[in-house]
Amino acid sequence: MPVAQLATLLVLGPAGRQRVRTSQTLLSLAVFLVFALILQAAVLFELAQTEAARVLTTVSLSSAGGFYLLIRSGLNEALHPPEPSLTLAQMVCAITEVCWAYAVLGAARGVVIVMLMVVLTFGMFVLRAGQARAMALLAGLLLAVVMVACNRADPQRHPAEVEIVHAGIATLALGAVSILMVRFGRLRQRLSDQREELRQALAKIHEMATRDELTGLPNRRTLRDQLDQGSQGGQPLSLVLIDIDHFKRINDEHGHPVGDRALCHFARLAEEELRGSTDVVGRWGGEEFLLLLPETAAVPARACVDRLRQRLRCHPLPGVQPPLVLSFSAGITQCASPEDVEAAIERADQAMYRAKEAGRARTELG
Ligand code: GH3
Ligand code: MG
Ligand code: MG
Repeated sequence: MPVAQLATLLVLGPAGRQRVRTSQTLLSLAVFLVFALILQAAVLFELAQTEAARVLTTVSLSSAGGFYLLIRSGLNEALHPPEPSLTLAQMVCAITEVCWAYAVLGAARGVVIVMLMVVLTFGMFVLRAGQARAMALLAGLLLAVVMVACNRADPQRHPAEVEIVHAGIATLALGAVSILMVRFGRLRQRLSDQREELRQALAKIHEMATRDELTGLPNRRTLRDQLDQGSQGGQPLSLVLIDIDHFKRINDEHGHPVGDRALCHFARLAEEELRGSTDVVGRWGGEEFLLLLPETAAVPARACVDRLRQRLRCHPLPGVQPPLVLSFSAGITQCASPEDVEAAIERADQAMYRAKEAGRARTELG
């Protein structure tokens, strides 16, 4: 592995969501490193007191470094699963430290308002509208408390006129940024709602493309795909074509809705009979169904069809008087390879028609 790649892996961790969070925290650590240098410069220019700047630098670098280690180690996911980026916690810390800097920076304290904007923009990509508003409010209130406290403690260094002008600028800037953050939060919410709608629409399209609408069984297209896959293994794959007997009569005597219910009834019983195995039952079309029985030779396939026949006999269609017992004719064949699929379907069809001609309610091998 190249050195640069190894270094990235060490510092940011493996690719994925955690890496995005780690790099975001690393960026805020970099911001606080530069901030520490600026505090040092302020000490050099005698704008800030050495001790006050040292304490603030230590606290801000250790909290930014601590958050980086928390996220890089993965502890964040265990610590606070609903919001593993820990953005709110990081922002509260950063806002507190920046407001604290207002008390430290003396005549240069006005720049702190710009720093607050930087901190708030970090939350833009993660915070919801309400959280963004709360963070802007927290920044404004904390700054106001620091301003009043500084003015009370040292009116010479923090004259009221200067504090009032700073407060005006801070209110303007925080107000504007909070409006933008709230709008951005709403935009993100809309995007995520649309993504969810799209995901659901895709799932529905997939369902419609692969399942039969009436019975919910795999449709003809899915059956063909599974036939192609199932016939690749070299093991015997049994294919059973089932056609319900005298179905037209059921429609004519009981009505189309009862015919529909009869198809669903058959589908459920067939699923129950095959449940827990690798077997598949699908709707081939109309009142025809196809069973795919992988790794099953003709004799056990026939036994399976007999069990289904027996099940139908024991379970007439509910709610119909006199009891309506469905019967079917079936054709069984073996499919040897993907090249044999078309011919196998034809053989099963022929066998099923032979079962019809021989008197229905029976199974023929093809
Ligand atoms: P056979 O025993 O020879 O198979 O006779 P049959 O009446 O079952 O066969 P035929 O092909 O004459 O009629 C099939 C009937 O199935 C005709 C068609 O209207 C009906 N059918 C096909 N699809 C549906 C469906 O989704 N719902 C309902 N209710 N009927 C359907
Ligand atoms: Mg038919
Ligand atoms: Mg039929």
